[in-house]
Amino acid sequence: MDEPALRHLIQSVASAVIANAGELTRLDQAIGDGDHGINMKRGFEALLADLDRIAASPLPAALKAAGTTLVMKVGGASGPLYGTLFMTLGKELPERPGHADVVRALGAAIDAVRRIGKSDAGQKTLLDVLVPVHAELVAGAADFASRLPARAAAAAESTVPMKAIRGRASFLGDRSIGHMDPGARSASLMVAAACAALGAAP
Ligand code: ADP
Ligand code: MG
Repeated sequence: MDEPALRHLIQSVASAVIANAGELTRLDQAIGDGDHGINMKRGFEALLADLDRIAASPLPAALKAAGTTLVMKVGGASGPLYGTLFMTLGKELPERPGHADVVRALGAAIDAVRRIGKSDAGQKTLLDVLVPVHAELVAGAADFASRLPARAAAAAESTVPMKAIRGRASFLGDRSIGHMDPGARSASLMVAAACAALGAAP
């Protein structure tokens, strides 16, 4: 991936998170402590502030740098989880990945998130979006830019009836039912923005 494409990808994902920070915070007010939007906005603004340096690096180094920034700046539970996701993608992806590389690297990154979070799909977390998106990628590369965002949005929606088993929302027990998980929503926003940027890339 060349510098302009990488720059466009980072800007697209960061803008989506920042523009929707209010919604993420409202979701976290319902079943958490109301800081998810604020946390994510702080992290992605820090990424944008460092965009020249990050986008000038080869893809693996850029992803590792982005992950490190997110761990340091997002905070909360989501910072280390998203940070680990990006750092692992950086470790696993070659400079010019093909579909098989992305499938394998995202699988490894999701496994790393599972380990750090001691969590898995079905527990009302961001994994409830990442895991089905990975499965959708495994199913094939064709039309990924239109398939993945729809799958991610449906997956975020599917967290509404779930009872939270991990994270702050789990303290609410049954009262966590009926609300979308904020991390699932931020993950679906990032997937949609990444697909829009990659789908439009030359
Ligand atoms: P905090 O919960 O510390 O306030 P955030 O509000 O930034 O952190 O992030 C909350 C989100 O993090 C949740 O909506 C959920 O998706 C995700 N999350 C929390 N704990 C875990 C975990 N153990 N495994 C996976 N995801 C988690
Ligand atoms: Mg929170």
